[in-house]
Amino acid sequence: MKEDQLSPGRRSLLRAAAALGATATVSLVAVEGFGRSAPPGTPPAAGAPAPPAAAPSASASGAAGPEAVPLAGSPVNASAYRLRPITSYAPPAVRRALPPVRSRPFLKLSGAGRAMVLTFDDGPDPRYTPGILKTLREYGVPAMFFVCGEMADAHRDLLREMADDGHVIGNHTWSHPLIPSLPPSRIRDELGRTSEVVDRELGRAPLWYRAPFGAWNKHSFEIGAELDMEPLAWTVDTLDWTEPSTATIVRRVRDGAGPGVVVLSHDAGGDRTQSVAALRTYLPWLLEQGYRITVPRR
Ligand SMILES: [Zn+2]
Repeated sequence: MKEDQLSPGRRSLLRAAAALGATATVSLVAVEGFGRSAPPGTPPAAGAPAPPAAAPSASASGAAGPEAVPLAGSPVNASAYRLRPITSYAPPAVRRALPPVRSRPFLKLSGAGRAMVLTFDDGPDPRYTPGILKTLREYGVPAMFFVCGEMADAHRDLLREMADDGHVIGNHTWSHPLIPSLPPSRIRDELGRTSEVVDRELGRAPLWYRAPFGAWNKHSFEIGAELDMEPLAWTVDTLDWTEPSTATIVRRVRDGAGPGVVVLSHDAGGDRTQSVAALRTYLPWLLEQGYRITVPRR
């Protein structure tokens, strides 16, 4: 959307966002409307990651209003600090300023030209994650994996493989709960335990997190910031968890491709055979179209 098409309200929000962004490595671009389009899904059974039951639609990019993060900064060095008890997990005390408390997640990249971000949620899963990693490796592109702590804890070899390949590990909570249904202490536990597992295995905690079902709330933004994480949602939802066919997933990515677009897929939470197969088709297509597949840096 061009700025000259924006409503006065949105323009003022943009100005406010720009002022906020001037003090951070990540800047907001547009905000109006988010929060009405992310209905929470049915909570999964306790203890098991489940497919997102009601994520924003495949056309979320238009309805939700873009909020974008620039490609900026550089990878953060591994931190060295003592692990703390699970329920009081905290990010390193001194590394840089913690991010501000957001009121909505980022939805796309800005200022990155023909760059796109591929994200995979709910894993790692030994049935599907290796296939995703193999394809990404074949084309030499990085992606983001928003892992569930209990999956990462059970499949640490895959977590390490993701990191060794240069992918960005994000925090997708421990057990994939519906965040707004939890008290703050549980939200902190879900996010904190997951960061701790990643940190213990890789030497650095996640710098990004994503709410299950795209259902965020104020507490999640506060706790995410306390844990030194920025919230990232997505621009295009492949709805791959509905197993719509490999061809349909490919079409959704192709139709939704564009500068700064963040694509949501899954490498766990159900039968992800189609998701693995689709990547093998749409990734080379995106590259042929001149898209650079990248990851945001903080
Ligand atoms: Zn999920």
